[in-house]
Amino acid sequence: MRVSKRELLCFDDVLIRPQYSDIPSRSAISLDSDCNGLDLELPVFSAPMDTVTEYEMAYALGGEGGQGVIHRYNTIEQQVRICSGNSWMMAAIGVSGDYLERATELYRRGVRRFCIDVAHGHTSMMREALKTLRAKFGDDIHIMAGNVATLEAFNDLADWGANSIRVGIGGGSICSTRIQTGHGMPTFASVLECSHSDRDASLVADGGIRNAGDIVKALGAGADAVMLGSMLSATDESPGEVIFIDGERYKTYRGMASREAQIDWRGHAASLEGVSSVVPCKGSVKNILADLSSRIRSGLSYSGARSLEEFHATCQFEKVSSLSVRESSTHIFHVHEK
Ligand code: IMP
Repeated sequence: MRVSKRELLCFDDVLIRPQYSDIPSRSAISLDSDCNGLDLELPVFSAPMDTVTEYEMAYALGGEGGQGVIHRYNTIEQQVRICSGNSWMMAAIGVSGDYLERATELYRRGVRRFCIDVAHGHTSMMREALKTLRAKFGDDIHIMAGNVATLEAFNDLADWGANSIRVGIGGGSICSTRIQTGHGMPTFASVLECSHSDRDASLVADGGIRNAGDIVKALGAGADAVMLGSMLSATDESPGEVIFIDGERYKTYRGMASREAQIDWRGHAASLEGVSSVVPCKGSVKNILADLSSRIRSGLSYSGARSLEEFHATCQFEKVSSLSVRESSTHIFHVHEK
């Protein structure tokens, strides 16, 4: 048994130190992120969840320069149909069951971007899956893998053949992994740790990102891109029916290890590590992405960085007191004068 004396920081524990800037306008800032050949213009992935990413989300996000990841909680034929032969689509697969058959069929129909999507990615099954896929498809495909929380895991997945790696365990808005298993690390701390890797796999911060500020912090900590679930949920482009509650419009957003999701995709629930919720409808994801893009650019401008590469090199974090969260959120008092 070992108790680490390190303090692991969350997004709210830090702010970014503003620095001198000679950038005349946000349009002078590029958010391009190569991500090992994915060539993103907006460093955002949508999560492979059945209430976040099917064709409409992937198409809308792709149009803004990001990358959707089509979830795997469907039959092979359904997933193939959602990807309808597009080589720019990224499709999620697992590490067991039909994963190889699924990947082979998706590949045969033109898909070249895969995401090996499991809750705990630092396992022998992940190693076998990565080796098998590389042996079968060579370097013709991009493989994202995860999730991991530590530098050892990040390096192993990179050595086993991953091109990009999802970093974050237990931080998702619908996640109960830390409560149910006692395991996890703050996503911000994991990103900082994995940013020290000398491997050339891209780092995708995933889980617990709530706003543009968290995205900027994740990028500043070394992420090449972020993956979003709740921020893109309940949009016109996210899958699922609109539910009316007291006349208001909502959509379901649920963890893929929630009881509801498990019963829907495999008929029974075991080892629950997620919850299901409803989220007020937000309109088109295109407006959300346009807002995010301009806010992330603003973020880089406060550090005087014209690109993600410059931001990685110059970003400086300051640890803040716990009361800072109160000052950082809007805190106007409403005074009613008589
Ligand atoms: P969010 O952006 O904070 O909503 O987190 C989304 C992320 O949560 C996904 O990209 C997954 O990594 C993770 N996730 C999805 N479903 C579950 C679950 O049921 N339990 C734990 N984590 C989940």
